Amino acid sequence: MIHTQTEPLIKLAGINKVYPMAGADVHALKELDLEICTGEMLAVIGPSGSGKSTLMNILGCMDKPTSGIYSFAGDDVARLGKAELAGIRKDRLGFVFQKYNLLARCSAEYNVQLPLFYKGISGFAARKKAGEALERVGLQDHAHHNPSQMSGGQQQRVAIARAMINDPLVLLADEPTGALDSVNSHDIMQLFQGMNRDQGVTVIVITHEMDVASYCQRQVTMRDGRIIKDSGQAVEAFRNVS
Ligand code: ADP
Ligand code: MG
Repeated sequence: MIHTQTEPLIKLAGINKVYPMAGADVHALKELDLEICTGEMLAVIGPSGSGKSTLMNILGCMDKPTSGIYSFAGDDVARLGKAELAGIRKDRLGFVFQKYNLLARCSAEYNVQLPLFYKGISGFAARKKAGEALERVGLQDHAHHNPSQMSGGQQQRVAIARAMINDPLVLLADEPTGALDSVNSHDIMQLFQGMNRDQGVTVIVITHEMDVASYCQRQVTMRDGRIIKDSGQAVEAFRNVS
């Protein structure tokens, strides 16, 4: 199917995720519906255990729902094979994690180039792109520093440069400021805002902190595997109960 601008980039309908566990299964997502349009900057908020990371894993094509429909850019994700899912992760999504996930013994420049190596781009072309990406996060002078020579905030900026190097459609960040103080958190959220505004990347930030979420135009609140509040769009479940 060809993706058009009028339909949402991301469409989740009736999503359930059950983790089979000895004793009792864990029902991590329950009949979850969510639509996200190109260019949105959205926060997913909720207490620990509410299903935020499970949602992120599904949105990021790292895990599949137990039931329900996930359509990404017009593709029904359930119908895609492993190679196609890997292709989406590589070409159309960028990931940022709480713990940065950088290679400790490699320079910032090398870390940022990694996604390019997977696409067969190396040498001068890769270094040039990495230099530009580091410049966008204000770390052009740190290309040859290793993570251990950088602050937490700087390491997270390297991780963001790495996530953005393939010009993804969507940037998915799971607790990106979870290990940072408030000044660094502010810088990281401003960086996301700039990328959303200037490059049009759709940003989805998962956080349990309201002040982090307030940098996003839209806030979706989760509890016990369900969306209980959505500042951007009316939630069906709410309409039904009110
Ligand atoms: P959050 O990110 O909001 O803290 P999670 O998505 O990590 O929430 O977890 C939601 C629920 O699913 C929790 O009860 C958690 O213990 C459970 N859970 C998460 N991942 C797994 C897993 N791989 N296997 C079993 N249970 C899991
Ligand atoms: Mg989590």
